[in-house]
Amino acid sequence: MNKQNFITMPKFEMHLHIEGTMYPEFFVKKAKEKNIKLAFDTPEEYYVDYRTRNTLQKFLMTYYGNMRVLENKWDFYDLAWEHAKRASEQNIRYAEIFFDPQPHLYRGVKFDEIVNGLYEAFQDAKKKLNFRAQLIMCFLKDLPEYEAEEVLELAKSAIKQNKIIAIGFDSSESPNWVQRFQKVVLKARFLGLKVVSHCQENVTDQSAWDVLHYFQPNRIDHGFLYTRIKKFWQE
Ligand SMILES: [Zn+2]
Repeated sequence: MNKQNFITMPKFEMHLHIEGTMYPEFFVKKAKEKNIKLAFDTPEEYYVDYRTRNTLQKFLMTYYGNMRVLENKWDFYDLAWEHAKRASEQNIRYAEIFFDPQPHLYRGVKFDEIVNGLYEAFQDAKKKLNFRAQLIMCFLKDLPEYEAEEVLELAKSAIKQNKIIAIGFDSSESPNWVQRFQKVVLKARFLGLKVVSHCQENVTDQSAWDVLHYFQPNRIDHGFLYTRIKKFWQE
């Protein structure tokens, strides 16, 4: 298959973090409009910097720093719309897209502004771009479980309106993180949500085993090392 065939063929996308789709052109423009001072003033400087940033920690510093340009519903709308346009140009027809409410809530953004901005952009994309997307709300695994429960509470109205289809878990892991979040998983199931989870990102094989057994997820989003865990194949 050549590249052009691949681009034109219809596709779906199952693993995408919307905040990770911010291109330098997007956040530099937003920062200028809002008078926010970022590390660099031009997209070109960011591209040079990306080529030299080779650790996850450095990447995350930039990632979280640039999120500051997302302040209101229309910023989230623009973020989602920009992505929908790129996806549509590549003939991606359907996507299930993660968003992380917690870093935005910490910055003082209202939950409904985040969800409604993303949701409305994807509604418009369905009508105008032949691209359909549904939202998965992720909790950060390195934060306390009660915060995840508080966020789930904030999300209830959006869940009732089918603006969110699932919860997920991302970010770095600590021991026993799966057990800590079991209650929020049960609550989410009760609300009719599906459950997906990144796992085995930086802890042991046991956490992957725990995700399967305690969460019984509809899907595992990362799980690089499953093949080496013998007991998966024995049960
Ligand atoms: Zn991911």
